[in-house]
Amino acid sequence: MKVALIGVGQAGGKVTERLARFDANMGFGAVQGALAVNSAKADLQSLEYVDTQLIGADRVNGHGVGGDNELGTEVMQSDIQQVLGALDGRVTSSAEAIFVVAGLGGGTGSGGAPVLVHHLQQVHDVPVYALGILPGRNEGALYQANAGRSLKTIIREADSTLLVDNDAWHAQGESVEGAFETINERIAKRVGLLFASGEAVEGVGESVVDSSEVINTLRAGGIAALGYATEIASEDSAENIRTAMSVSRQALLTGTSLPEATTADSALLVIAGDPDRIPRKGVERARRWLEDETGSMQVRGGDFPLESDRLGALVLLGGVERSDRIQEFMERAREAKRKQETEQADHADQFTDDRLENLF
Ligand code: GDP
Repeated sequence: MKVALIGVGQAGGKVTERLARFDANMGFGAVQGALAVNSAKADLQSLEYVDTQLIGADRVNGHGVGGDNELGTEVMQSDIQQVLGALDGRVTSSAEAIFVVAGLGGGTGSGGAPVLVHHLQQVHDVPVYALGILPGRNEGALYQANAGRSLKTIIREADSTLLVDNDAWHAQGESVEGAFETINERIAKRVGLLFASGEAVEGVGESVVDSSEVINTLRAGGIAALGYATEIASEDSAENIRTAMSVSRQALLTGTSLPEATTADSALLVIAGDPDRIPRKGVERARRWLEDETGSMQVRGGDFPLESDRLGALVLLGGVERSDRIQEFMERAREAKRKQETEQADHADQFTDDRLENLF
């Protein structure tokens, strides 16, 4: 699937850069253009693989909006024409979809990404998706509250919002902060493979994935999730039937970007590997298992021919917003918002208490 990418904010820019780099290094050619937008100049200066656009310079002078996502919304609104202008020529006629990438818990990405999605929808005919990063459980209350508001708005605006929970793809024992590098690498690889799977070489493999299958899987709207797992495969495809099942199970049950989100409206199972090692029977069996497990009647399937001694399963789920994980997150966000409001009220109260009188 040929895509144009726009990263908003620090996390958005970094992940977009990783995606562009992965696509270039692998020679997939799925990423047609990549732009990073930020109100913090320093964050843009560290990026190499993407074009950059500073916003809000008249308001924050290149210093960012801090954790103020309402200000993030305002600066994106004020400078939207510059951002859309910077995209001219990047969202070419060959782009089949646009992805707006952002960490939902901060300021610029959290507030700016929903605004950008809204405007892109007015200007472009191709689907506009969001790739949103949810703060981990241990990130502060401000991040949770910001992400809750941002998620609510971006779901309304985007054709589908692919979510990555920061608690999902880091190695055990790593702190979330220390794990950003690992998480970003994993996002780049998995999402990069998803883009590239629709680009599979023609004439290789029996049922290669087409971009329209990705788009149709995301047509359910709402929230999407992505799972991935690989295992060493035998050279004889007949011996890999169990492997195809096993990687598919792991991709859905332990390898997903949104843990425990396994009930979906639609799904796509991509089996990646050397065409000679991909077992037809195993793929079909895994696809049927995925139908049962997700409760979806619309499970698409296909191969992604790659040179590798491993077999990989990439599972894209559409319409997972009913999952407990999302409800748990939204509750966490609401609780954080309530706490913020009470704290603000407490601070205001401390000077109205009349046991301490004003001096004059
Ligand atoms: P912004 O620049 O104001 O949009 O804010 P950030 O992008 O720095 O932070 C927003 C959210 O993204 C927070 O929940 C962070 O924990 C998270 N975040 C920041 N940097 C990264 C990163 O490099 N990778 C990942 N996965 N998350 C990040």
